[in-house]
Amino acid sequence: MGDIIDGKALAERIFTDVKLEVAKLATAPRLVAVAVGDDKASAAYTKRQAKLAQSCGILYRLDNLPSEAPESALRAHLETLNRDPGVSAVILQTPLPRSFDLVRCRDAIALGKDVEGVTTLAAGRLAMQKAVIAPCTAEAALHCLRAAIPDLRGLEVAVVGRSDIVGKPLALLLIHESATVTVCHRQTRDLAEVLRRADAIIAAAGSAGLVRAEMVKAGAVVVDVGTNAVTAPDGSTKLVGDVDFEAVKERARAITPVPGGVGQVTVAMLMRNAVRLARAAAETCT
Ligand code: NAP
Repeated sequence: MGDIIDGKALAERIFTDVKLEVAKLATAPRLVAVAVGDDKASAAYTKRQAKLAQSCGILYRLDNLPSEAPESALRAHLETLNRDPGVSAVILQTPLPRSFDLVRCRDAIALGKDVEGVTTLAAGRLAMQKAVIAPCTAEAALHCLRAAIPDLRGLEVAVVGRSDIVGKPLALLLIHESATVTVCHRQTRDLAEVLRRADAIIAAAGSAGLVRAEMVKAGAVVVDVGTNAVTAPDGSTKLVGDVDFEAVKERARAITPVPGGVGQVTVAMLMRNAVRLARAAAETCT
Protein backbone atom coordinates (compact mmCIF):
# COMPACT_ATOMS: atom_id res chain seq x y z
CA MET A 1 0.00 0.00 0.00
CA GLY A 2 1.21 3.49 -0.88
CA ASP A 3 1.89 6.35 1.53
CA ILE A 4 -1.02 8.62 2.36
CA ILE A 5 -0.07 12.25 1.75
CA ASP A 6 -1.39 14.04 4.83
CA GLY A 7 -2.90 17.36 3.72
CA LYS A 8 -3.59 18.46 7.27
CA ALA A 9 0.05 18.05 8.31
CA LEU A 10 1.24 19.89 5.20
CA ALA A 11 -1.23 22.70 5.89
CA GLU A 12 -0.07 23.01 9.51
CA ARG A 13 3.50 23.59 8.34
CA ILE A 14 2.31 26.30 5.92
CA PHE A 15 0.30 27.99 8.71
CA THR A 16 3.39 28.04 10.91
CA ASP A 17 5.39 29.77 8.16
CA VAL A 18 2.52 32.20 7.48
CA LYS A 19 2.39 33.24 11.16
CA LEU A 20 6.14 33.91 11.14
CA GLU A 21 5.84 35.96 7.94
CA VAL A 22 2.88 37.98 9.30
CA ALA A 23 4.93 38.83 12.40
CA LYS A 24 7.64 40.33 10.17
CA LEU A 25 5.23 42.75 8.45
CA ALA A 26 4.76 46.30 9.77
CA THR A 27 0.99 46.03 9.17
CA ALA A 28 -1.09 42.87 9.36
CA PRO A 29 -2.52 41.80 5.97
CA ARG A 30 -6.23 42.38 5.52
CA LEU A 31 -8.10 39.83 3.44
CA VAL A 32 -11.61 40.71 2.28
CA ALA A 33 -13.94 38.04 0.90
CA VAL A 34 -16.76 39.27 -1.32
CA ALA A 35 -19.88 37.16 -1.82
CA VAL A 36 -23.20 37.76 -3.55
CA GLY A 37 -26.30 36.09 -2.12
CA ASP A 38 -26.39 33.26 0.40
CA ASP A 39 -24.88 30.09 -1.05
CA LYS A 40 -24.45 27.51 1.75
CA ALA A 41 -21.13 26.05 0.57
CA SER A 42 -19.68 29.52 0.08
CA ALA A 43 -20.85 30.55 3.57
CA ALA A 44 -19.16 27.47 5.07
CA TYR A 45 -15.95 28.26 3.21
CA THR A 46 -15.87 31.92 4.32
CA LYS A 47 -16.44 30.82 7.92
CA ARG A 48 -13.43 28.54 7.63
CA GLN A 49 -11.38 31.30 5.98
CA ALA A 50 -12.24 33.69 8.84
CA LYS A 51 -11.18 31.21 11.50
CA LEU A 52 -7.90 30.32 9.83
CA ALA A 53 -7.06 33.94 8.97
CA GLN A 54 -7.55 34.90 12.60
CA SER A 55 -5.32 32.07 13.78
CA CYS A 56 -2.57 33.33 11.43
CA GLY A 57 -2.83 37.00 12.48
CA ILE A 58 -4.47 38.03 9.19
CA LEU A 59 -7.34 40.52 9.45
CA TYR A 60 -10.42 39.17 7.70
CA ARG A 61 -13.77 40.57 6.63
CA LEU A 62 -16.68 39.20 4.62
CA ASP A 63 -18.57 41.71 2.46
CA ASN A 64 -21.81 39.97 1.55
CA LEU A 65 -23.83 41.72 -1.14
CA PRO A 66 -27.55 40.91 -1.33
CA SER A 67 -28.65 38.31 -3.91
CA GLU A 68 -30.53 40.98 -5.88
CA ALA A 69 -27.39 43.16 -6.29
CA PRO A 70 -26.58 43.70 -9.99
CA GLU A 71 -23.21 42.82 -11.49
CA SER A 72 -22.35 46.53 -11.75
CA ALA A 73 -22.71 46.85 -7.95
CA LEU A 74 -20.33 43.96 -7.42
CA ARG A 75 -17.74 45.42 -9.77
CA ALA A 76 -18.09 48.86 -8.17
CA HIS A 77 -17.56 47.25 -4.76
CA LEU A 78 -14.43 45.45 -5.95
CA GLU A 79 -13.08 48.71 -7.38
CA THR A 80 -13.67 50.40 -4.00
CA LEU A 81 -11.63 47.67 -2.33
CA ASN A 82 -8.88 48.15 -4.94
CA ARG A 83 -8.58 51.79 -3.90
CA ASP A 84 -8.66 51.08 -0.16
CA PRO A 85 -5.07 51.08 1.19
CA GLY A 86 -6.31 49.17 4.26
CA VAL A 87 -7.18 46.13 2.12
CA SER A 88 -4.29 44.01 0.88
CA ALA A 89 -6.10 41.00 -0.60
CA VAL A 90 -9.50 40.25 -2.12
CA ILE A 91 -11.18 36.91 -2.75
CA LEU A 92 -14.35 36.74 -4.82
CA GLN A 93 -16.55 33.88 -3.65
CA THR A 94 -18.39 31.69 -6.14
CA PRO A 95 -21.01 30.90 -7.19
CA LEU A 96 -22.13 34.28 -8.48
CA PRO A 97 -25.66 34.80 -9.79
CA ARG A 98 -26.06 33.09 -13.16
CA SER A 99 -26.45 36.33 -15.10
CA PHE A 100 -23.03 37.62 -13.96
CA ASP A 101 -20.01 37.42 -16.25
CA LEU A 102 -17.52 35.63 -13.98
CA VAL A 103 -14.37 36.63 -15.89
CA ARG A 104 -15.46 40.28 -16.07
CA CYS A 105 -16.17 40.28 -12.31
CA ARG A 106 -12.85 38.62 -11.46
CA ASP A 107 -11.03 41.08 -13.70
CA ALA A 108 -12.42 43.94 -11.60
CA ILE A 109 -9.97 42.88 -8.84
CA ALA A 110 -6.63 44.70 -8.99
CA LEU A 111 -3.70 42.40 -9.81
CA GLY A 112 -1.90 43.31 -6.59
CA LYS A 113 -4.91 42.26 -4.47
CA ASP A 114 -5.93 39.16 -6.47
CA VAL A 115 -5.21 36.62 -3.71
CA GLU A 116 -6.44 33.64 -5.75
CA GLY A 117 -4.63 34.56 -8.96
CA VAL A 118 -7.87 34.40 -10.93
CA THR A 119 -7.67 37.57 -13.00
CA THR A 120 -6.64 37.55 -16.65
CA LEU A 121 -3.57 39.60 -15.72
CA ALA A 122 -2.57 37.10 -13.03
CA ALA A 123 -2.95 34.23 -15.52
CA GLY A 124 -0.67 36.05 -17.97
CA ARG A 125 1.91 36.76 -15.28
CA LEU A 126 1.84 33.10 -14.25
CA ALA A 127 2.40 31.98 -17.85
CA MET A 128 5.40 34.32 -18.07
CA GLN A 129 6.77 33.14 -14.68
CA LYS A 130 6.36 36.67 -13.33
CA ALA A 131 3.59 35.96 -10.80
CA VAL A 132 3.84 36.73 -7.07
CA ILE A 133 1.21 34.08 -6.37
CA ALA A 134 -0.62 31.31 -8.26
CA PRO A 135 -4.19 29.98 -7.88
CA CYS A 136 -4.47 28.36 -4.45
CA THR A 137 -5.76 24.94 -5.53
CA ALA A 138 -3.13 24.56 -8.24
CA GLU A 139 -0.43 25.53 -5.72
CA ALA A 140 -1.90 23.08 -3.21
CA ALA A 141 -1.90 20.18 -5.68
CA LEU A 142 1.70 20.94 -6.63
CA HIS A 143 2.66 21.13 -2.94
CA CYS A 144 1.11 17.69 -2.30
CA LEU A 145 2.94 16.21 -5.28
CA ARG A 146 6.24 17.68 -4.14
CA ALA A 147 5.72 16.21 -0.67
CA ALA A 148 6.10 12.82 -2.38
CA ILE A 149 8.51 13.79 -5.17
CA PRO A 150 10.56 16.90 -4.32
CA ASP A 151 12.32 17.11 -7.70
CA LEU A 152 9.83 17.10 -10.58
CA ARG A 153 12.37 17.56 -13.38
CA GLY A 154 11.64 15.23 -16.26
CA LEU A 155 8.68 13.62 -14.50
CA GLU A 156 5.77 12.54 -16.72
CA VAL A 157 2.69 14.14 -15.13
CA ALA A 158 -0.87 13.73 -16.36
CA VAL A 159 -3.30 16.44 -15.26
CA VAL A 160 -6.99 15.62 -15.67
CA GLY A 161 -8.88 18.90 -16.10
CA ARG A 162 -8.14 22.14 -17.93
CA SER A 163 -10.15 24.72 -15.98
CA ASP A 164 -8.85 28.27 -15.63
CA ILE A 165 -8.42 27.99 -11.86
CA VAL A 166 -7.08 24.45 -11.45
CA GLY A 167 -5.97 22.43 -14.49
CA LYS A 168 -4.45 25.19 -16.62
CA PRO A 169 -2.45 27.00 -13.90
CA LEU A 170 -1.33 23.63 -12.53
CA ALA A 171 0.00 22.64 -15.94
CA LEU A 172 1.96 25.90 -16.05
CA LEU A 173 3.37 25.41 -12.55
CA LEU A 174 4.45 21.89 -13.49
CA ILE A 175 6.10 23.09 -16.71
CA HIS A 176 7.98 25.68 -14.66
CA GLU A 177 9.20 22.78 -12.51
CA SER A 178 10.46 21.13 -15.73
CA ALA A 179 7.97 18.27 -15.59
CA THR A 180 6.64 16.82 -18.85
CA VAL A 181 2.93 17.54 -18.73
CA THR A 182 -0.07 16.05 -20.51
CA VAL A 183 -3.37 17.83 -19.90
CA CYS A 184 -6.48 15.66 -20.30
CA HIS A 185 -10.11 16.69 -20.67
CA ARG A 186 -13.40 15.31 -21.91
CA GLN A 187 -12.17 15.14 -25.52
CA THR A 188 -9.04 13.15 -24.61
CA ARG A 189 -9.25 10.08 -26.84
CA ASP A 190 -7.93 7.46 -24.42
CA LEU A 191 -7.66 8.76 -20.86
CA ALA A 192 -6.59 5.38 -19.45
CA GLU A 193 -3.72 5.12 -21.91
CA VAL A 194 -2.41 8.60 -21.03
CA LEU A 195 -2.73 7.99 -17.28
CA ARG A 196 -1.04 4.57 -17.42
CA ARG A 197 2.22 6.01 -18.69
CA ALA A 198 2.33 8.84 -16.13
CA ASP A 199 4.72 8.91 -13.15
CA ALA A 200 2.22 11.17 -11.41
CA ILE A 201 -1.48 11.83 -11.92
CA ILE A 202 -3.28 14.93 -10.73
CA ALA A 203 -7.03 14.49 -11.03
CA ALA A 204 -9.09 17.70 -11.11
CA ALA A 205 -12.18 16.74 -13.09
CA GLY A 206 -15.02 16.76 -10.57
CA SER A 207 -16.05 13.20 -11.52
CA ALA A 208 -16.29 10.61 -8.73
CA GLY A 209 -14.46 7.35 -9.46
CA LEU A 210 -13.00 8.60 -12.75
CA VAL A 211 -9.47 7.35 -12.02
CA ARG A 212 -9.52 3.60 -11.44
CA ALA A 213 -6.68 1.29 -10.35
CA GLU A 214 -6.12 -0.21 -13.81
CA MET A 215 -5.44 3.30 -15.18
CA VAL A 216 -2.56 3.88 -12.76
CA LYS A 217 1.03 2.75 -13.28
CA ALA A 218 2.36 0.79 -10.28
CA GLY A 219 4.40 3.17 -8.12
CA ALA A 220 2.85 6.35 -9.52
CA VAL A 221 1.97 9.28 -7.24
CA VAL A 222 -1.69 10.28 -7.31
CA VAL A 223 -2.99 13.68 -6.20
CA ASP A 224 -6.77 13.98 -6.04
CA VAL A 225 -8.15 17.51 -6.32
CA GLY A 226 -11.73 16.45 -6.99
CA THR A 227 -14.45 17.07 -4.45
CA ASN A 228 -17.71 15.31 -5.21
CA ALA A 229 -20.67 14.86 -2.87
CA VAL A 230 -22.07 11.36 -3.38
CA THR A 231 -25.18 9.84 -1.86
CA ALA A 232 -24.77 6.46 -0.13
CA PRO A 233 -27.52 3.78 -0.32
CA ASP A 234 -28.68 4.84 3.19
CA GLY A 235 -29.31 8.38 1.91
CA SER A 236 -26.33 9.98 3.66
CA THR A 237 -23.92 12.07 1.61
CA LYS A 238 -20.17 11.92 1.71
CA LEU A 239 -17.33 13.73 0.03
CA VAL A 240 -15.15 11.75 -2.39
CA GLY A 241 -12.50 12.66 -4.91
CA ASP A 242 -12.06 11.75 -8.57
CA VAL A 243 -9.92 8.74 -7.69
CA ASP A 244 -11.11 5.30 -6.57
CA PHE A 245 -9.05 5.74 -3.40
CA GLU A 246 -9.31 2.25 -1.88
CA ALA A 247 -8.20 0.45 -5.05
CA VAL A 248 -5.68 3.03 -6.28
CA LYS A 249 -3.85 3.26 -2.95
CA GLU A 250 -2.81 -0.37 -3.42
CA ARG A 251 -0.99 0.51 -6.68
CA ALA A 252 0.24 4.04 -6.00
CA ARG A 253 3.51 4.95 -4.28
CA ALA A 254 1.70 7.83 -2.57
CA ILE A 255 -1.81 9.26 -2.74
CA THR A 256 -3.83 12.13 -1.28
CA PRO A 257 -7.12 11.26 0.45
CA VAL A 258 -10.41 13.18 0.06
CA PRO A 259 -11.18 14.72 2.48
CA GLY A 260 -7.89 15.44 4.25
CA GLY A 261 -5.72 16.05 1.21
CA VAL A 262 -5.54 18.91 -1.30
CA GLY A 263 -8.51 20.79 0.24
CA GLN A 264 -6.66 21.26 3.54
CA VAL A 265 -3.65 22.67 1.73
CA THR A 266 -5.71 24.96 -0.52
CA VAL A 267 -6.93 27.14 2.33
CA ALA A 268 -3.40 27.29 3.76
CA MET A 269 -2.22 28.51 0.33
CA LEU A 270 -4.88 31.23 0.48
CA MET A 271 -3.30 32.55 3.70
CA ARG A 272 0.20 32.22 2.23
CA ASN A 273 -0.92 34.18 -0.85
CA ALA A 274 -2.45 36.91 1.37
CA VAL A 275 0.89 37.36 3.11
CA ARG A 276 2.83 37.34 -0.16
CA LEU A 277 0.63 40.08 -1.62
CA ALA A 278 0.93 42.20 1.54
CA ARG A 279 4.71 41.79 1.48
CA ALA A 280 4.90 42.65 -2.25
CA ALA A 281 2.77 45.77 -1.67
CA ALA A 282 4.97 46.84 1.27
CA GLU A 283 8.11 46.36 -0.85
CA THR A 284 6.60 48.51 -3.64
CA CYS A 285 5.95 51.33 -1.13
CA THR A 286 9.51 51.36 0.25
P1 NAP B 1 -14.41 22.47 -13.88
O1 NAP B 1 -14.27 23.91 -14.18
O2 NAP B 1 -15.74 21.82 -14.00
O3 NAP B 1 -13.38 21.67 -14.84
C1 NAP B 1 -13.35 20.27 -14.87
C2 NAP B 1 -12.35 19.84 -15.89
O4 NAP B 1 -12.27 18.43 -15.88
C3 NAP B 1 -12.70 20.24 -17.33
O5 NAP B 1 -11.54 20.65 -18.02
C4 NAP B 1 -13.29 18.95 -17.92
O6 NAP B 1 -13.03 18.78 -19.31
C5 NAP B 1 -12.51 17.88 -17.17
N1 NAP B 1 -13.30 16.67 -17.05
C6 NAP B 1 -14.51 16.51 -16.46
N2 NAP B 1 -14.93 15.23 -16.57
C7 NAP B 1 -13.96 14.58 -17.27
C8 NAP B 1 -13.83 13.25 -17.72
N3 NAP B 1 -14.77 12.34 -17.49
N4 NAP B 1 -12.72 12.93 -18.41
C9 NAP B 1 -11.74 13.83 -18.65
N5 NAP B 1 -11.82 15.13 -18.25
C10 NAP B 1 -12.91 15.48 -17.56
O7 NAP B 1 -13.89 22.13 -12.42
P2 NAP B 1 -12.74 22.83 -11.51
O8 NAP B 1 -13.24 24.09 -10.97
O9 NAP B 1 -11.44 22.80 -12.24
O10 NAP B 1 -12.67 21.78 -10.31
C11 NAP B 1 -12.32 20.43 -10.55
C12 NAP B 1 -12.58 19.63 -9.29
O11 NAP B 1 -11.75 20.12 -8.27
C13 NAP B 1 -14.01 19.73 -8.75
O12 NAP B 1 -14.37 18.49 -8.16
C14 NAP B 1 -13.91 20.78 -7.69
O13 NAP B 1 -14.91 20.65 -6.69
C15 NAP B 1 -12.55 20.47 -7.14
N6 NAP B 1 -11.90 21.58 -6.46
C16 NAP B 1 -11.28 21.28 -5.30
C17 NAP B 1 -10.63 22.26 -4.61
C18 NAP B 1 -9.90 21.90 -3.37
O14 NAP B 1 -9.44 22.77 -2.66
N7 NAP B 1 -9.76 20.60 -3.07
C19 NAP B 1 -10.65 23.58 -5.08
C20 NAP B 1 -11.24 23.85 -6.31
C21 NAP B 1 -11.87 22.83 -6.99
P3 NAP B 1 -13.63 19.78 -20.45
O15 NAP B 1 -12.80 21.03 -20.36
O16 NAP B 1 -13.43 19.05 -21.71
O17 NAP B 1 -15.06 20.02 -20.08
